[in-house]
Amino acid sequence: MTGRTHLIVGSGVTLSVLSLIGQPITLPAAVVAVVSSLLPDIDEPNSLLLQKTMPKAVLNKIKLALVAAGVGFMIYCYFQSFYVPYSYGVGVLMIGAFLIHQRLFRQLLMIILGGLLLYLGAEAGPWWGTIGALLMVCAVLPHRGLTHSVYGVAIWGAVLYFASIRLGESMWISGVMAYTLHLLCDMLTKHGIHPLPPFKWKFRLPLMSTGKFSGFLVESICITLTFVLVWHAFIAPMGDTMFGFFTHIKDRVSALWNT
Ligand SMILES: [Zn+2]
Repeated sequence: MTGRTHLIVGSGVTLSVLSLIGQPITLPAAVVAVVSSLLPDIDEPNSLLLQKTMPKAVLNKIKLALVAAGVGFMIYCYFQSFYVPYSYGVGVLMIGAFLIHQRLFRQLLMIILGGLLLYLGAEAGPWWGTIGALLMVCAVLPHRGLTHSVYGVAIWGAVLYFASIRLGESMWISGVMAYTLHLLCDMLTKHGIHPLPPFKWKFRLPLMSTGKFSGFLVESICITLTFVLVWHAFIAPMGDTMFGFFTHIKDRVSALWNT
């Protein structure tokens, strides 16, 4: 299933259900719904979420900055005799970043970013550390590993639950729902998911393959059903309110007319 479908179905259904069960739709809840609908694919270094948060242009700039820093570092080492010749090795590694494949480079950045969050997590709060650890683990896991399991839902749910104490409980409900919807959608594909690794059980209802006609058909049906739900949750009540408003005005006018 494409990232676009995950995004529409995950956030659309989640926000509609939140509205229907009377939960407030706050900005954090909406942002969490969008992120959670794509988050399970973060272990896929070319996922939509990573392409948006770490686009190619940014990656290339980071690479160029590394090359410039590497050259600068080597010149500094040459003039200052700074641990020569070992320091040259570090410089060559920094310049070598330019040759690394985009996918591997994203993976390395995820590990570095995860490490940074883990380090800062000690100061900023436990969930930053947890997200950092998750990011590092996800960078090295095979696709549809831990993130596409019950553990993924539980860890993400726990992180959001603690964050929700200050930001309102609709946030964690939104996150767990959007994340679970992603897994349910992936169950419709040929690959399915392993809900409880290392057990080999596989949950799947192989209706489609991404990129094939079956994928187009199933994804279109899912998106249409999402729009029906969004209509039911947001647009229809708006119509009812307008109808109530006009009936109220009509009653007032006829009351005035009759007096
Ligand atoms: Zn997925």
